[in-house]
Amino acid sequence: MERAAAEPHFVLVPWQGTISHIIPMTDIGRLLACHGAAVTIITTPANAPLVQSRVEDLATPPHGAITVTAIPFPAAEAGLPDGCERLDLLRSPGDVPRFFAANKQFGEAVARYCRGSEAMLRLRRRPSCVVAGMCHSWALGLGRELGVPCYVFHGFGAFALLCIEYLYKHRPHEAGITFAATAAFRAIDDHGLWDDAGDTEFDVAVDGVVVNSFDELEHGSCALLAEATGKNVVAVGPVSLFRSPHVDPQAMTGDARRVMEWLDTKESKSVVYVSFGSAGCMPPAQVMQLGMALASCRWPVVWVVKGADSMPDDVKKWFRESFDSNKCLVVRGWAPQVAILAHRAVGGFLTHCGWGSTLEAIAAGMPVATWPLFAEQFLNERLIVDVLGVGVSVGVTKPTENVLSAGKLNGSRADIEVEVGMEQVMKTLERLMDEGDEGEQRRRKAQELKTKANRALEKGGSSYMNLEKLIQSLVS
Ligand code: UDP
Repeated sequence: MERAAAEPHFVLVPWQGTISHIIPMTDIGRLLACHGAAVTIITTPANAPLVQSRVEDLATPPHGAITVTAIPFPAAEAGLPDGCERLDLLRSPGDVPRFFAANKQFGEAVARYCRGSEAMLRLRRRPSCVVAGMCHSWALGLGRELGVPCYVFHGFGAFALLCIEYLYKHRPHEAGITFAATAAFRAIDDHGLWDDAGDTEFDVAVDGVVVNSFDELEHGSCALLAEATGKNVVAVGPVSLFRSPHVDPQAMTGDARRVMEWLDTKESKSVVYVSFGSAGCMPPAQVMQLGMALASCRWPVVWVVKGADSMPDDVKKWFRESFDSNKCLVVRGWAPQVAILAHRAVGGFLTHCGWGSTLEAIAAGMPVATWPLFAEQFLNERLIVDVLGVGVSVGVTKPTENVLSAGKLNGSRADIEVEVGMEQVMKTLERLMDEGDEGEQRRRKAQELKTKANRALEKGGSSYMNLEKLIQSLVS
C-alpha cells in the first residue's frame, strides 16, 4: 500500500515476559494502524504467532499497515532452554535473572534491526516513534539513537502508575505506613524486579506513557500523572473493544469453543466467571477453599485454573472428583476471556484485578468480585470498589506469596497459609450476584462505564482524539 510521506511509523516492542502484555500492545498496534499510521511490531519467534493472529486482517493487502517481525531471543546464550521466551516458560524462579540478561541482548538485536534492516529502511521508512513494553529499558537508547521519541507501555492503569509514582517519591512503606498496596509494592521492591529490569531510570527518562485506559475512567489520574511526571500521558483504551474478530465464537476452536457452547446453555446473567489472569496461581490449600465455594454456590461457574499440573497429586485427584461439569466448568488451558465477558449468560467476574482483566470487565459492563494477588492489583481493587463502585472485595489483605515466580512455586507449596476461607468466598459471591438494590446499583454503574468506554473509542471520543494527537505530534 502506498503511504503518504508524512505518515508516522511506530515501532512497537511488547514486553514478551507475559502474554498479558503482548495482547494489549498488539491491540494498540491495531488502533494505530486504523488511525492511518504505519506499524512494525517486533517480538520473539515463540510469541510471533500470537501477535500475527491478532493483526492478520491488517497485515495483509489491501491494508498492509502492520508488519510483524520476529527477532531471535537469545535464550540459550543466557543459559535458558531454547524457546524460553516468556516468564511462564521458565523452569524455576532462578531463571528470572537469566531471562532479563537475555532480554538485554534481545534489545541489542532489535537495535541492529532498526538501524540496518533493509526492510525497515526501504519498505517502512525510518521509525518516527518507539513504543516499548515495560522492562525494555534498552529502548530508550534506541529512541535516542534514532532521534525519535520513546514511549513506554507498562500495562498498568494511570491511577496505579500515579500511586507508584508517589510511593517511589515518598516511600511510605519505609516509614512504616502500611496498607495492602504498600505491602505489595514492598514485595516487588524486595524481589528486586524493578532492579532486574533497570526500570527506574528508564521511567524517568522516557518521553511519554501509553496507557490502556480512557480519560473518563480514572477520575483525572492521567492528567495528574502527566503533571507529576512531566510526561505526555496518552490514554488509548479500552483496547479490548477494538478486536471484534477475536470475540467471534464461530471462529473459535477446541477449549474456547467448548466454553462458549457451555455458556449458551445457561440462563442470562446466571454464571460466575472466575479467572486470575494469564499466570495467577495460588497455594493448593487456598485453591481447595475456593474450589469448595465454587462447587457449592448457587450459580453455574466457569473457573480458569492455571498451574494445575504442578499441584500435588491429591489436589489433582480432588479436582477430577469434585466438579459436576454442568455446574462448574473447569478450564485448564486458555479461556477466551473477552468473549466470555461479553456473553449474555455471565453475570459476575471474580478477578485478580490485573489491569487487563479490569479494563475488559469495564468494557463489558460486568460487576466484579476482587481478589488481588500481588503488586498494583491491590491499587486496582481500590479503584474498582471504592472509586468506581462496580465491585465487592473478597477481603484479601496481603500479597499471595511467590506468585511472582511465574506460577511455578505456588502450585507445589503446601506450607503457605490460607487467607480466604470457603465461607468468605461464598459471602462475596452472594454480594456479587445480589439481585437486590445493592447489586442493581453496581450493575447500573458497570453499564454506564461500558457506555463511556465505547464512546471513548468512537470518532471524536477521548481515546480516539488522544491517538490522533499523538500521531499528529509526530507528523509535525
Ligand atoms: N487471558 C485470557 N485467557 C486466559 C487468561 C488470561 O484471555 O485464560 C487474558 C485476559 O483477557 C487479559 C490477560 O490475559 O487480556 C490477563 O491480563 P491481566 O492484566 O488481567 O493479568 P496478568 O495476566 O497480567 O496477571
